[in-house]
Amino acid sequence: MIQRFFKNYVWRFSMDLSKQKTIYLTFDDGPTPKITKWTLDTLKQFNAKATFFCIGKNVENHPKIFNQIIADGHSIGNHTHNHLNGWETENDTYIENVLKAEESLQLAVRSHQSSAIGQQSQTTINHQLSINSKKQKTNSNLESAVISNQSSAIGQQSQTTINHQPSPINHKPTTNLFRPPYGKTKSSQAKQLIKKGYKIIMWDVLSADFDQSISSKKCLDNVLKNTQNGSVIVFHDSVKAEKHLKYVLPKMLEYFSKKGYTFSNIALPN
Ligand SMILES: [Zn+2]
Repeated sequence: MIQRFFKNYVWRFSMDLSKQKTIYLTFDDGPTPKITKWTLDTLKQFNAKATFFCIGKNVENHPKIFNQIIADGHSIGNHTHNHLNGWETENDTYIENVLKAEESLQLAVRSHQSSAIGQQSQTTINHQLSINSKKQKTNSNLESAVISNQSSAIGQQSQTTINHQPSPINHKPTTNLFRPPYGKTKSSQAKQLIKKGYKIIMWDVLSADFDQSISSKKCLDNVLKNTQNGSVIVFHDSVKAEKHLKYVLPKMLEYFSKKGYTFSNIALPN
């Protein structure tokens, strides 16, 4: 019922029933060590693609897992930097937090590329660091994480770049998908994000995998009963959801695979 009031958001995808049967799995709140890795392995077994709405802070802490998600061909979405509740957050703070998450995603991708390419990418890293110069204080962890990967001499050089060459963000964003934590965002916040090019991705099936008061069996039933062609299903690759997720995900993948469904990542044109 609520869906009717928010036509600018994506709740599920309308499919041509005669042509294809597709389900869109989404995983919120990662990357989380072990659980995200398990999720990726499980998806691979069923040749399933999905969309991971990542928390910027977690990407900062676990860049390798984040890059593994991308390497496996899944989509990435922004889920704010600190999992903010939009209803309880000032608009400016909220939007800034989304953009901060985007910076973390970019930095994780670039640090991964640089470790693969080596010294050649030093220029890129310096450039990336300079982007963060305006928020030097809040991003200090981010910067020190990158700098720690460099020799101290190069670290000094980067520091100089930060101090003297601030530059605006001019990279292509890593993702145009956004999901508000708790599904709670003010329409004024959503409007600003849409203006910045984000698509707001909600869901039509909530697995409730985070709900400790229900059984894993009940969680599976939620998913099997409510999923239809084109559904967007919410799971969480988080510690809280681990127990239910590990029970439900393989079973639902098997159930719908047998029924002829494929599992796709969400990819929307800008
Ligand atoms: Zn969340």
